[in-house]
Amino acid sequence: MATPIGNLGDITKRAVDILARCDAVACEDTRVTAKLLNHLGIRKPLWRYDDHSSDQQRENLVSAMHDKAVALVSDAGTPLISDPGYRLVKTAQEQGIPVTSLPGPSAAIVALTLSGLPSDRFLFAGFLPVKDKARDDVLAELARIPATLVFYESAQRLGKSLEAIAARLPGREVAVARELTKAFEECRRGEAASLAGHYASHPPRGEIVLMVGPPVENGETEVDVDALLLAAMEQEKPSQAAAQVAKATGMERKTLYARALELRKS
Ligand code: SAM
Repeated sequence: MATPIGNLGDITKRAVDILARCDAVACEDTRVTAKLLNHLGIRKPLWRYDDHSSDQQRENLVSAMHDKAVALVSDAGTPLISDPGYRLVKTAQEQGIPVTSLPGPSAAIVALTLSGLPSDRFLFAGFLPVKDKARDDVLAELARIPATLVFYESAQRLGKSLEAIAARLPGREVAVARELTKAFEECRRGEAASLAGHYASHPPRGEIVLMVGPPVENGETEVDVDALLLAAMEQEKPSQAAAQVAKATGMERKTLYARALELRKS
């Protein structure tokens, strides 16, 4: 079942009812879930279950479910969404245990609905890899998908991810949603390079969802921009080539210059 991502008022009536009636709660961190249950005035046995739980621990938990009603929660938001639970649900279903899902908050959906980016098609891609090459590979894989891309992100890595997006997905609208449902909630939109500049001078805090709008409709996709830059660089230095392409496309010169330097290296 889903639990709040910040504002405790976002717990659903049904979640409170099931937490009050279940036999036990399986959770990622017993201290975090104990706080939520204390707030609700509910006492239940808390069973730790997370991504480090062994196959045997999962089997034991599923065996217990044959005669006990177990509620699965994560620290915040919806379990299984970049959180533990997938293998548990699958194993329980394979053993014929009835499973249902109680909807509620998930940071990806809250962020998308606040971003001002197209919400008709979106692709949730979890966390971007930490290593530069792996992150670039994922961005290259996702570049042509005609949908808003939604990533979970940490405050420490936001700057690097924005720089990678500026280089790999130039010209796309980006939104950064921070501290959703909490006192300092904010959502900032712009080009990745300008957002990177903003957060370099205002280091972000808290929890973050990073979103990238779909490729622009007039065909100025990454591939077209690359082709334009490469053609311009046959005659010009990267800075001049970036200026020319900026004039032709209306895209940010700084972003194009960064991409031109990347292209010259490869
Ligand atoms: N299962 C959760 C959900 O449904 O939202 C997500 C769990 S994932 C381990 C945690 C990540 O979700 C954070 O690093 C952040 O990217 C995002 N997140 C969670 N709460 C958030 C909030 N209040 N504001 C912005 N992002 C949040």
